[in-house]
Amino acid sequence: MNKVIYLDNAATTQVYPEVLEAMNPYFTEIYGNPSSIYTFAQKANRAVLSARQTLADFIHAKAEEIYFTGGGTESDNWALKAAAEAYESKGKHIITTKIEHHAVLHTCEYLEKKGYEITYLDVNEYGTICSKELEQAIRPDTILISVIAANNEIGTIEPLMEIGQIAKKHGVLFHTDAVQAFGHIGLDVDEMNIDMLSASGHKINGPKGIGLLYVRKGVKIRSFIHGGAQERARRAGTHNVPGIVGFAKAAQLADNAMDEKIAYETGLRDYLIDRVLKEIPYSRLNGERTKRLPNNANFCFRFVEGESLLILLDQKGICASSGSACTSGSLDPSHVLLAIGLPHEIAHGSLRLTLSEKTTKEEIDFTVEQLKEIVDRLRKMSPLYEDFLRNGAK
Ligand SMILES: *Cc1c(COP(=O)(O)O)cnc(C)c1O
Repeated sequence: MNKVIYLDNAATTQVYPEVLEAMNPYFTEIYGNPSSIYTFAQKANRAVLSARQTLADFIHAKAEEIYFTGGGTESDNWALKAAAEAYESKGKHIITTKIEHHAVLHTCEYLEKKGYEITYLDVNEYGTICSKELEQAIRPDTILISVIAANNEIGTIEPLMEIGQIAKKHGVLFHTDAVQAFGHIGLDVDEMNIDMLSASGHKINGPKGIGLLYVRKGVKIRSFIHGGAQERARRAGTHNVPGIVGFAKAAQLADNAMDEKIAYETGLRDYLIDRVLKEIPYSRLNGERTKRLPNNANFCFRFVEGESLLILLDQKGICASSGSACTSGSLDPSHVLLAIGLPHEIAHGSLRLTLSEKTTKEEIDFTVEQLKEIVDRLRKMSPLYEDFLRNGAK
């Protein structure tokens, strides 16, 4: 099989042809700077305005609450650093979780060095935070709660509605890193009481290098990139017009097909999970069984090393990940798998497969067959597995 089987849609996605088609004119024909005043440039400006409205509608926000950024990482950095600075006089305490993306975790570490105090909430064995623990962690000097909407490694969806209610009740800002959730599950910033939300184009079949930060009207937010007057002078720099247009087109496509996409991916995901757990001994599913992203499956295979698994899958043309693209290359096991209570040796044998609406049952069948063989092969080389069998598989 020479074809590539792409099962790493949490790392990035294909730009859909419709998205590219929508973007193309803004490179070559309508290339004016949207901030210029002549008619030619105003065509580009109108495209930015329309994209802003589309993306705002998608999460039930207002157009003026959407700020374009260079991606999810920038949006997370902005939300945390700017809120920290703007609300410093109220306090310097921030609540987040142990299973955030590094864009949030490393920003929190930076803020700790600047004198902020961060509470990292624990999660249960499925990766869900406890609302009661969250509420108990709130103090008079708490200025921000930042909780990932859906985890990028294990796919668990957090109780956003409850978190929003708690944040509102205590008058604390609520930011969510919704990069994995946006376009994959329904999000409503009003219903969920979300004050700030990060999203990214390339995780929803849009282009790379474009993201957004939603900031509720009335929230004090500091400028993040200083320069021109773009984005109400809060995020300066000439607009990435093709990127913005492509991001909005991708959101529109996701919006139109959301229910079908969720139903299809959930069915295929459950088929994959059932086959793996049934056909591969000593395997486990990580994350919530049902409250998880429709396209996410994350497994651990005992006595198997994740990196070896990935290399052998790659030889069969299967693109997969051991957790997060950001931790590959490092030998530390995933902080998310440790947070759900897995011991180091088991966390090392993890595999994340993330599907798309274009993934086929044939591809999943092929992948499961290869996986069975590869896991078997790796275990036969493992002295630990040998001991385990000798001791009566206990
Ligand atoms: C991919 C991802 C990011 C980073 O987004 P970029 O656009 O790649 O910078 C942040 N948070 C989560 C949960 C992600 O999955």
